[in-house]
Amino acid sequence: MSVYLDVACIHIQRYLARTPTLRGRRAASAVLAEATRLHRRDDDPPQAPPPPLLRALGGYATANAEAGIADGVVSVVVDKGVAPADAARRVLAHLRETLPGATFQAVWGEGHTYLDAYNNRIKPQLASGQGLLTDLPPLAEFPPISPCRFCRSAPACTRLPIDPFDEEHREQTREQDACADCEMRYGTRTSRRAGRTAEDRLATKLGLTRIDDFAALAALGTAESGRNHLATVYADGNAIGDFFSALVKKEGDKAGVSKRLVDATRDALAAATRAISHESALCAVPHVVGGDDVLVSVPADRGWRFAAALLTELETSFAAIAGEFGIDRAPTASAGIAFAHAHHPFHLVVESADACMRRAKGAYAGQRTSLDFCDITVEGNEVPAEAPMSLKALRAHAADLDRLVAAMPAHQRNRQENLRRLGADWQHQAEADLVRIGRTEVLAPFRPHTENGQDGIRTTQALRIARWWRGGID
Ligand SMILES: [Zn+2]
Repeated sequence: MSVYLDVACIHIQRYLARTPTLRGRRAASAVLAEATRLHRRDDDPPQAPPPPLLRALGGYATANAEAGIADGVVSVVVDKGVAPADAARRVLAHLRETLPGATFQAVWGEGHTYLDAYNNRIKPQLASGQGLLTDLPPLAEFPPISPCRFCRSAPACTRLPIDPFDEEHREQTREQDACADCEMRYGTRTSRRAGRTAEDRLATKLGLTRIDDFAALAALGTAESGRNHLATVYADGNAIGDFFSALVKKEGDKAGVSKRLVDATRDALAAATRAISHESALCAVPHVVGGDDVLVSVPADRGWRFAAALLTELETSFAAIAGEFGIDRAPTASAGIAFAHAHHPFHLVVESADACMRRAKGAYAGQRTSLDFCDITVEGNEVPAEAPMSLKALRAHAADLDRLVAAMPAHQRNRQENLRRLGADWQHQAEADLVRIGRTEVLAPFRPHTENGQDGIRTTQALRIARWWRGGID
C-alpha cells in the first residue's frame, strides 16, 4: 500500500484572472507551473538539477507516476514512515512561498494504486470536505491600509513601476502600491522565466508563436468581425468520478488511466487549435489546462469552430478509453462560450463562461456532450432564455447555420430575432417578413420559438448563434 497525496490550487481561474493584463496572468501561470513541477522539462540538459519542488520534498515524497500533469496540481507518493500531513505541509510551504495570493488544498489516501486511493479515500474526502488541509493566503487587515493598485484584491506591501514590463525606462517610471502576489507576477523573479505554461507547451507542440496580448489575438479575426472580440471557452469533463468508480470493477491495466485522461485533454486542445489555425501565430490562449478542464480564449469568429472541435475530440477520446475497459457509459464533456470585447474585464468573462458551462452540464445532467453560450456585448450578463444545446444538435444543424449566415445579413437576422421574442402576435409579422424577403426556407430547419425539447435548435437560438457563426465545423 502507498499513500497518495494531491495538492491543488483551488479556484485557479479566479486566481489567475485577478490581474487585468494577460501578461500578469501568464506570469502567474508560469510561476505556478514551475512551483508545481515534478518532472524534467523537455529542453533541460542532462545535468540540470531536479525541479525545486522535488528537492524540497527530498525524504518526504516522490512524484506520482500514475498521475498526469495538470495545471496547478501536485500529485506525489509519500515516502514510507513519513506522516502524510508532514509531506502535505512541506508541499504547501513551498507553494505558499512562490504564490502568495493563491489558495491550496491538500488531500491524501492510502491504496494499492492511485485509482484505488482516489476512489476509496480521496474522492469521498473531496466530496464531504472532511480530512482536507486548506492553506489560505494571509487575511487582509481591515480596513486595508492601502490596497494593491494592480489587482485590488490584497493589501499592498511594496511598490512597483506603473508599467512593470517597460524594462527600458525602469528607473524613471512612477511607482504604485502592489501586493506580494502582484510582485510575483510583475517583479523580476526568475521562476517566471523558468516555468513552462500550457500555452508554451501548446506553442511548441504546434510550432507556432505566442501572441502578445488579447488585442493581438482579437486582431486575428476577419475584417468584417471588427477584429476586437474574443470567445472564451471553458470546457470540463462530465461524470469523470463515476467513470473511475466503474473502472474499479473492471479488469485490465488501469494504472495509467488517470494520466491518459489528462493527455486526452491536452491532445483535444491541440487538435481544436489546429482546426482553427491558418497563420504562424498561435491563435488560442489557453489559461488553464487541468486534468479534464480547459479555459481558452480564441478570436470570436473562430469560437464555434474551436468549441465544437474541442468537444468532439474530448467525447471521442473519453469514449475510446471507456470502450477499452468495457464501460458503456463513457464520460462526456460540456462547454460554455462567452463572446465579449477583448477589453471586457477578464474575470467577468471567465464567470460568464463558467456559468454557461454549468448550465450546459445541468441541462443534460452531465450525460451528454453539450454547450451553451452568452454574447456579453449584445446581451450583457443576462441568462439566455434558450436552453443549452447538445453537441449532436449543433453538428446536425451546422450546414443549416452556414446557409442562414450566407443568406441573411445581420440586420435581417436581428429583426427576425427581435420580432420572435415579442410573443405570439409578432410571430406572424416575422413570418410575413420572411416571405417578403424570400427567405422562408432558411429558418425552416429550426424549431418554432414556442416548442421546447432537448434536441434540435430553436429559431431564436439559431439567430443568436448566427451572430458569431462563421461556418465550417467539421
Ligand atoms: Zn495585487
